[in-house]
Amino acid sequence: MLRIAVRDLEESALKTLEAIQKLVDKPADYPSRVAKAKSEWDTKLSTNAKKDAFKAVRGTLAKMCIGSVRCAYCQDSLADEVEHIRPKNLFPEHAFVWGNYLFACGPCNGPKSNRFGVVNGAVVEEFIRGRNDAVVPPPAGVSGFIDPRTEDPFAFFEMDLGGVTPNGAHIEGTFEILPLDGLGVTERARATFTINVLGLNREAIRAARKNAFGGFSARMHQYVASKESGSNALELARLQADLLKTPHLSVFEDIRRQRRFQPDLLDLFDRAPEMLAWQVVPDVAA
Ligand SMILES: [Zn+2]
Repeated sequence: MLRIAVRDLEESALKTLEAIQKLVDKPADYPSRVAKAKSEWDTKLSTNAKKDAFKAVRGTLAKMCIGSVRCAYCQDSLADEVEHIRPKNLFPEHAFVWGNYLFACGPCNGPKSNRFGVVNGAVVEEFIRGRNDAVVPPPAGVSGFIDPRTEDPFAFFEMDLGGVTPNGAHIEGTFEILPLDGLGVTERARATFTINVLGLNREAIRAARKNAFGGFSARMHQYVASKESGSNALELARLQADLLKTPHLSVFEDIRRQRRFQPDLLDLFDRAPEMLAWQVVPDVAA
């Protein structure tokens, strides 16, 4: 998971969202607001204005995706679902708020669904509302879930790429995402909660990350060989752009961070140090 470069949503779409949100916020009691958020969500394409607004939402979210249109959470699958970072069934007041949306894939969005937790000291306490439970708001507090729109997931997670230890031992990577070494207890609990809720270490994703590692390594070799054989700037820029369009850019980020454990790749970075400065996540876009 990497930080998302947030873009502005066009004004007319924002206005439409705000108008719907007002309707959701109107009922005096919380259960009615939850019900209203659901019914408004289910009918979010019922007028042309709403259709236009959600077309803009989807279009802007797609542009915010890193690399190709990949899920903001797993980066593995095609992102095609508007995901509420704070679940709309728990936070009706965020159901039609632009800042609460991300583009995610079905395999991430499905299991996450209504899951939510709040930090309590060194743990994240999950708030679960069962089918027959009273409809009450979740407790206030810091969300256990890391929000890639407002936080930098790279500061919470690291990938087990394996490599060569200082004493020369080769370790096979598992390609799992783990809480970053040295996190405080609260941050660690949030990282663990986020990994578990999203199932970020699903076997298929780990296999894809391993594959991506091989792909990045090959592209880096190709870039350095091309540079050293005197290719022109245009050709090098093309190779750079190809690499940065590859899915699983978090693998590339972790290759750079952990390069001292990857002697082959460390050598490539010495020969083409500009690869360390390539920008994976664009700045907030125009
Ligand atoms: Zn996903």
